[in-house]
Amino acid sequence: MSDTAWIVIGIVGFGVAVYVSGTRNPLTKCRRCGGSGLIRSWLLPWRYRPCPRCGRAGEIRGRLGRRD
Ligand SMILES: [Zn+2]
Repeated sequence: MSDTAWIVIGIVGFGVAVYVSGTRNPLTKCRRCGGSGLIRSWLLPWRYRPCPRCGRAGEIRGRLGRRD
């Protein structure tokens, strides 16, 4: 096989590894609240509201995450 074919195989293999890893670990830290699930008030630091993006869970499912 030519060198180009091996490079293509390497890229495809890497892509498959990333995909499998992403599906096995579907959760990612919510970027909006940094995983705390809370958004702090800028005016009153002791006051906070639940993060609307993750619904206070502090974690969201990545694009590769399974729905189960
Ligand atoms: Zn959040």
